[in-house]
Amino acid sequence: NDLPKQAELNAPLSLIETGREPENKTWTKIVLIIICYIFPLAFLIAADRIWSWTRWVQKREQWLKQKEEWIKQKEQSNRLYQLLKRKRQMRKKIVAGNWKMNETLQEGVALAKEINESLKAEKPNCDVVICTPFIHLASVAQVLDSNVVGLGAENCADKEKGAYTGEVSAAMVKSTGAQYVILGHSERRQYYGETAEILKEKVKLALANGLKVIFCCGETLEEREAGKQNEVVKAELEGSVFNLSAEEWKSIILAYEPIWAIGTGKTATSDQAQEMLAYIRSIVAEKYGNEVAEDTSILYGGSCKASNAPELFAKPDIDGGLIGGASLKAADFKGIIDAWKK
Ligand code: PEP
Repeated sequence: NDLPKQAELNAPLSLIETGREPENKTWTKIVLIIICYIFPLAFLIAADRIWSWTRWVQKREQWLKQKEEWIKQKEQSNRLYQLLKRKRQMRKKIVAGNWKMNETLQEGVALAKEINESLKAEKPNCDVVICTPFIHLASVAQVLDSNVVGLGAENCADKEKGAYTGEVSAAMVKSTGAQYVILGHSERRQYYGETAEILKEKVKLALANGLKVIFCCGETLEEREAGKQNEVVKAELEGSVFNLSAEEWKSIILAYEPIWAIGTGKTATSDQAQEMLAYIRSIVAEKYGNEVAEDTSILYGGSCKASNAPELFAKPDIDGGLIGGASLKAADFKGIIDAWKK
């Protein structure tokens, strides 16, 4: 742009303006460079920085919001977990022995004493009950510390009192000092023809006399193989205990005992037992509501021993065991009770 036009070169350079030494324009150039180059560049850099800073601020806000939400969700699921845990801790863990038709009176009293002493020496982490034949009850009640070991019968009559030779009423059971009674055991259903209707009467009388009922249910091997186990168990509960009021239900403990596992050495796997107990809890919830179902103790029974009890009792819906054979030796029984310490 600064090249002179041809018309301007009309005299020797020394005589014209173009040929003159230029004035020192360094400062003008510096100012020009600053205005035309440094300023716009600085402006672009600043704009770019501000733009990326606002994006960072936006992202940070989003991230903080997400973090807050995540913490809230975690707290909520923690609260839910704690609630369920508290519920599980609230319902009673129970190990109950069922002596069946074993032990003479003297043997039974000695066994009860031994169990009582060992549990007094080392407090159990669960409620412990021993259910004995009728003739043992009054004597065994004398040797048990009821704060440590509860006492129960294995059966009671479906009639209140009267001319029923050989029968033992709920009131008689209660008068021995017993607090529990097992009803609906598969051996009673199978060998003594106890129907749902008869059991309904027995349950009613037991509760009316202030006994807690350990009510058993469970399917045969054929029923399980036909996939009918849920149906069978539901019918047994509906037929004998689902008629109770919510208040009466507080004295009910359920025991799921698959008949194919009783006294056979064949235990239901812990998953099979958990699945059924969760199902039972769900039908109790349908009938009495979630709160009641969460508070109901449900036991597993069937070849339970010290070796498999920890795995069974670790399942969330298994609240303990109803123990047959292994309740006849204090050490075996204690081994199962101790599973609650693991
Ligand atoms: C029972 O008869 O209730 C029972 C569970 O028996 P076992 O433990 O011997 O299988």
